[in-house]
Amino acid sequence: MVTRSKSSHNFNKFDFIVVGYGIAARCLLREMAKDAKFQNKNILVLSKNSFFHSCSTHTTSVVCLSGIERGISPLGDLIVDSYDLAKEYYESLDSSIVERAVQFQVKNDDQGRVSISENKAYIIHPERLLAQLEHEYMGNLNITFIDDVVAKIENGAVHTLNNECYNSDRIIVAAGAWSNFLQKDISCDDLNRSKFVSGSYLTFSNIDFGNEAFTYAYGHFNIVYRATTHELLIGGTTVKENIEAPSVSELEEQYKTFENLFKEIHHDKFVMPEFSKGKITTGMRHKGRKRTPFFGQVSEGLYLMSGLYKNGFSFPFYGAKKITSLL
Ligand SMILES: Cc1cc2nc3c(=O)[nH]c(=O)nc-3n(C[C@H](O)[C@H](O)[C@H](O)COP(=O)(O)OP(=O)(O)OC[C@H]3O[C@@H](n4cnc5c(N)ncnc54)[C@H](O)[C@@H]3O)c2cc1C
Repeated sequence: MVTRSKSSHNFNKFDFIVVGYGIAARCLLREMAKDAKFQNKNILVLSKNSFFHSCSTHTTSVVCLSGIERGISPLGDLIVDSYDLAKEYYESLDSSIVERAVQFQVKNDDQGRVSISENKAYIIHPERLLAQLEHEYMGNLNITFIDDVVAKIENGAVHTLNNECYNSDRIIVAAGAWSNFLQKDISCDDLNRSKFVSGSYLTFSNIDFGNEAFTYAYGHFNIVYRATTHELLIGGTTVKENIEAPSVSELEEQYKTFENLFKEIHHDKFVMPEFSKGKITTGMRHKGRKRTPFFGQVSEGLYLMSGLYKNGFSFPFYGAKKITSLL
């Protein structure tokens, strides 16, 4: 049974409390729903998206290995393991949620000549994916959702801005970049060394670049064509600060780069829409120490899923398995 109101509980004690409701929290709940040990347990999900905007809906959301292979570094291995889990799931979903696509990786040689290699990519429609994940656990878990700001976590108690206090022996923080505001309560070296990295992108609507989704990666610049919704995305920028505002000059640079590239390689096939027609969106990424996410226990009864950075649509499939095995 699933409840959405607090009133069904006489006490504020839960078996599990999850802070956050982005892709990390949803992958965790999906994993919990698969395991009998979480059935009939009372789970509280606390989030406040109107306060702490979820990066999972402010994202260009492409999943691609871009040439990364196993056996080179621990982070590379983690990226590949997470990719494999995400891929298995994405292959089961309809193309209205996840479009199978090609990533064209563009490089310049010493003479400035353009070379392009191809990789397999998944282009995600994030709101649809989040709804799909929710659909998969709603019938199997007993979840109470409360829209409130977590102000403090202390000794198995979660205190909120509405002056409520919820208790649990197992609290999982999946609060994205905003986890950094809870650093002193969580006390984890990986979290203390993590950073906010703001990122913005442009979205153009009513674009017809054909029936096949595709993406181009040029350095850290990306362009993404979502064929099913006829959207073109350019970005994201990288601003190493907690600033929820766009770097318009960098967006314009990225736009011009792709405008020139498309003229060079596609001639008049893909005519770019005017820059001013693009809608700008900004999301807050959470960069873990050495770009590495943290999935684990930080103290008695307190667990953390953080630092997804630019792999937010693959890392949490791995992280969710790790956390559920610890609970
Ligand atoms: C421009 C841009 C492009 C990107 N492109 C890609 C890409 O191509 N591929 C990819 O894999 N990833 C990409 N990412 C990264 C990806 O979007 C994120 O890593 C991922 O969405 C983070 O998910 P999350 O669940 O950890 O955090 P979020 O989605 O931010 O969720 C955090 C949740 O915690 C809640 N919360 C936080 N603090 C509190 C509090 N104190 N009280 C109550 N609730 C709280 C929030 O309300 C929210 O519900 C991109 C990001 C950006 C910004």
